[in-house]
Amino acid sequence: MTSGPVTTDAFWLARAVELSKLCPPSETAFSVGAVIVGTDGEVLSEGYSREADAHNHAEEAALGKLPDGDPRLRGATIYSSLEPCGQRASRPRTCAQLIIAAGIPRVVVAWREPDLFVSACQGTALLEEAGVEVVELPELATAARAVNAHLLG
Ligand SMILES: [Zn+2]
Repeated sequence: MTSGPVTTDAFWLARAVELSKLCPPSETAFSVGAVIVGTDGEVLSEGYSREADAHNHAEEAALGKLPDGDPRLRGATIYSSLEPCGQRASRPRTCAQLIIAAGIPRVVVAWREPDLFVSACQGTALLEEAGVEVVELPELATAARAVNAHLLG
């Protein structure tokens, strides 16, 4: 017998960083991975940037695999290698809005969005204003950034 599933934040966030390595390359958008984990430590969904659609963001790709109003999301945590976006050009709803609408109460990120494609990302502020807990694990920021090194110069 093993000791059961590993459910620490760092474990799941490292999984999100691994997923970000699956993103089709882009010179104009970040590569991001996301994992949604339920209260019992079970993976509800996973996604990554540009998965299946050139405009998909990681959080959106993961949420899109679950039914609207999935009650498990009310107790879930979404792990994203990058702070969820608070503004975007490609779709009407930002990832922060999608997470709030899904009722996910907790977000864990490795890395805050740098002022590269948008200035002063508001994703964290929007989530916190809506009562969502946002946790940053800076020990995984280097790994999350490394996947995007070609964008950062
Ligand atoms: Zn987004």
